[in-house]
Amino acid sequence: MKTDVVVIGAGVIGGAIAFELSKVGRSVVIVDKGSAAGAGSTSASSAIIRFSYSTHDAVLMAWESATIWENWAEYLGVVDPDGMAKFIRTGYLVYRTVGYDGESVRKIWEDIGIPYEILSAAQLRERFPLLDVGSYWPPKRIDDPAFGDDASGELSALYDPLSGFMDDPMLAAHNLVNAAKAHGAQTRFKQEVVSIDSDGTRIKGVTLASSECIEAPIVINAAGPHASKINALAGVLGEMNIRHRPLRQEVYVAPAPKGFKLEDNAPIVADLDTGIYFRPHPGGTINLGGTEPACDELHWIDDADDWRQETTVEIWETMMLRLARRMPDFGVPVSPSGIGALYDATDDWVPIYDRSSIEGYYMACGTSGNQFKNAPLAGIFIRLLIEAAEAGHNHDKAPIKYVGPRTGRAINIGAFSRLREPQNTSGTVMG
Ligand SMILES: Cc1cc2nc3c(=O)[nH]c(=O)nc-3n(C[C@H](O)[C@H](O)[C@H](O)COP(=O)(O)OP(=O)(O)OC[C@H]3O[C@@H](n4cnc5c(N)ncnc54)[C@H](O)[C@@H]3O)c2cc1C
Repeated sequence: MKTDVVVIGAGVIGGAIAFELSKVGRSVVIVDKGSAAGAGSTSASSAIIRFSYSTHDAVLMAWESATIWENWAEYLGVVDPDGMAKFIRTGYLVYRTVGYDGESVRKIWEDIGIPYEILSAAQLRERFPLLDVGSYWPPKRIDDPAFGDDASGELSALYDPLSGFMDDPMLAAHNLVNAAKAHGAQTRFKQEVVSIDSDGTRIKGVTLASSECIEAPIVINAAGPHASKINALAGVLGEMNIRHRPLRQEVYVAPAPKGFKLEDNAPIVADLDTGIYFRPHPGGTINLGGTEPACDELHWIDDADDWRQETTVEIWETMMLRLARRMPDFGVPVSPSGIGALYDATDDWVPIYDRSSIEGYYMACGTSGNQFKNAPLAGIFIRLLIEAAEAGHNHDKAPIKYVGPRTGRAINIGAFSRLREPQNTSGTVMG
């Protein structure tokens, strides 16, 4: 079989790339070893759409992508018979604590014109009475005798009113793949790519576990936590200045107390003071994850095909008790409800959207637990990288830019290069 483009991975990133490329008339084959679009790490995503990153390009990328999520049906132009994912606006509250004072992001928001407020402890108490304003820094493990210590002071917070989340991340990926198919893309589920075929300088296609070869002048690695395996198959790991590898995480769902349900206008909360993030979720629940505080061990995974999906009692207890500190009315449930999942984390928690030294081989990976929100622009960036290379442009030497329609400002796509020096970021999922 021959096609213009093979996209490896039908997650939210591969789906967005396939949509962007099929929309402009390229023949696209999406290959996924799973059985459905978005069934990989995308299905576990908290799907938070916020604008708080450490660098200008990353904030702009999130801010521009957000308009696409808000106008999802219009952007896709195709109604998915299986339903459409929806953006739910909640606002986003990030506590200002010792390890995260929010100053760099506040300055970027000022510059771009992203609306926000600074809420004092008194204003927080009044606006969000369920949330405790105590400072417990640094985050602690529950076996630390200081875990239950009284607050050492009070916190203020940044609040942006425009953030939110997509109600169903897997459905969002399905919507993208469905829209790509409406433009002629084909899907090959339950088919594993086992070889990236090239002559060392030019891509030729991929080989599947069934031994079938798909010939294509363009192959894109959007394999999520398996992306480093695919880059190894392509033989490009050696040229990369940024590592990316699977990192195991756990996320939970718990009953929300009265006052912190979606209908109560509860916000998304990033609380690096205790080491958690949480948000209201449909059905009267809370979705909760961790922010990689220094006291928590990071669970790097050697093989993205060999890890435990079940949750761990100690991690669950820690997360629940941290939430109970921040929200004293939260009733800790008797048993865990959650899932283990993988990030594809880079050294600096910034993704890689790039070409490679093999002509026709591209990568959209290293999404570091924070790129669901940026999938629409990731799709556009990969299309622009392909078009630039075909026009003879060397992106490695002179990085291309994308001017976002919302701001008219240029995003330097070179900020997401595989060759970059690690960027100065929070060093966590916050990016
Ligand atoms: C627990 C969790 C919470 C998160 N929360 C947020 C959040 O709140 N906000 C945010 O912006 N981001 C968040 N993220 C990050 C975001 O969800 C991910 O960056 C994004 O979903 C990654 O999408 P993907 O398409 O790259 O990967 P995936 O969805 O994993 O898709 C990759 C696909 O590639 C396929 N594949 C792999 N290897 C092969 C092969 N050899 N052959 C064929 N197919 C292959 C897999 O089957 C898979 O379907 C979170 C991530 C996790 C895990």
